Amino acid sequence: MIEKLNNYNKVITYIERTKTRLQKKHLPFNDIHYYDAKRLEGIQQGIPLFENLSMAQIVQIAKDAIEFVIRRGCSNMCTHCYANAKPEIHHKQRNKLTTISYEDFKKFCNGFKELSNRLGFKALGSDRKYVTLFHDGDSSLVYLQDKKGKTHDYLDLAKEINKLTNSYVLFDTSGWNIQDKVTQKRMEELVQKAKNVKKYGFLRFNISINPFSPFYEKSLMYRFEGNKEKAEKFRNIYTDRMANVIYTMSPIFDYDYYRINFILRAFPDNYKEVKGYNADALRYLISEIINKVEKLYIKDYQTGQKVVCSMEQAQGYIKDIESKIVFIQPIGLSGRAAENFKNKVNIEPEKIMQNHNTDDYIASIIDVNGKVYFTDFKSTTKTDIQLNYKNKNAETPQIFPLSED
Ligand code: SF4
Repeated sequence: MIEKLNNYNKVITYIERTKTRLQKKHLPFNDIHYYDAKRLEGIQQGIPLFENLSMAQIVQIAKDAIEFVIRRGCSNMCTHCYANAKPEIHHKQRNKLTTISYEDFKKFCNGFKELSNRLGFKALGSDRKYVTLFHDGDSSLVYLQDKKGKTHDYLDLAKEINKLTNSYVLFDTSGWNIQDKVTQKRMEELVQKAKNVKKYGFLRFNISINPFSPFYEKSLMYRFEGNKEKAEKFRNIYTDRMANVIYTMSPIFDYDYYRINFILRAFPDNYKEVKGYNADALRYLISEIINKVEKLYIKDYQTGQKVVCSMEQAQGYIKDIESKIVFIQPIGLSGRAAENFKNKVNIEPEKIMQNHNTDDYIASIIDVNGKVYFTDFKSTTKTDIQLNYKNKNAETPQIFPLSED
């Protein structure tokens, strides 16, 4: 006991001295990157989350963690999905754990909070710009329920992670089923809540529009077969869905122009062999979607005024949307995109991956059972690091993209 106490005091002295040294050099003293993990050994003792982990392992998580995964699985099944996401039900049928338990989520938050208190700065607060609560899921489907049945929505959970990291938390969506009334209601409530910028200003919403939705793909297939009617039907399913997403999320524009952005991905126009998946095809889709959004605003204004109270407001939203829909990024050929397109495009996947420039940035993913993976966003590697979650022995779905090594 005395030995442990002496060691603990030695670590505290090391931290204080290092802080002073860093401050003198005008370096950030509140970033765990700058501390020697070996000399921090012992400070984690007694924190249940870190049982059996060394400080070297904890520092590795703390400085690189970017995906704090709450829920695995996505029903959108986009054909370019780099994470090869499959619906949650698919994983559940195979007895995989898809959701972090609320108990483990609290354990995670409490563990890092206690470590931060001991260090005197936020253990997870490095210079990363953003974090996410998903890996292979759509944010519109991410929430948790505790044992008493209380729902903790994306904003509640993001708030806890923001307190630990000080980073922006991303909310990325490729849309939800327009018939899914539960998700629609959850999203409407979430948008109302997100208006509170003081409380939730750290959130950044991204709406993803691309030609890789299975509905759009079906419409392409029917178009090539000459079935105009069915081609139209499936194209409309996609454009209606995305118009509804933009319409539902529009009130967020009111509070901060930078809070909503669009992720636009397609093959470059010179890739003729993937006609229908090019930037040009996406531009047509976007203009159709914007027309539909305008119609939804007009209908809303004339009926309930749930989203727009004047036509000026509607015009302002459209202007905002158009000003953000500018840059179409080329897609990276990994995960499901590689599976589906590598034989269709006359270019080496590695060359396309160069478009996916991540500057060799390595980040870590914390899975719903506490297991930690490293990723450079092109491939993912398992580590032997695992947080002491109650569900640590549960099997989770494979994390993609896989490492070849
Ligand atoms: S790209 Fe995103 S929305 Fe599409 S399947 Fe993958 S996780 Fe889901």
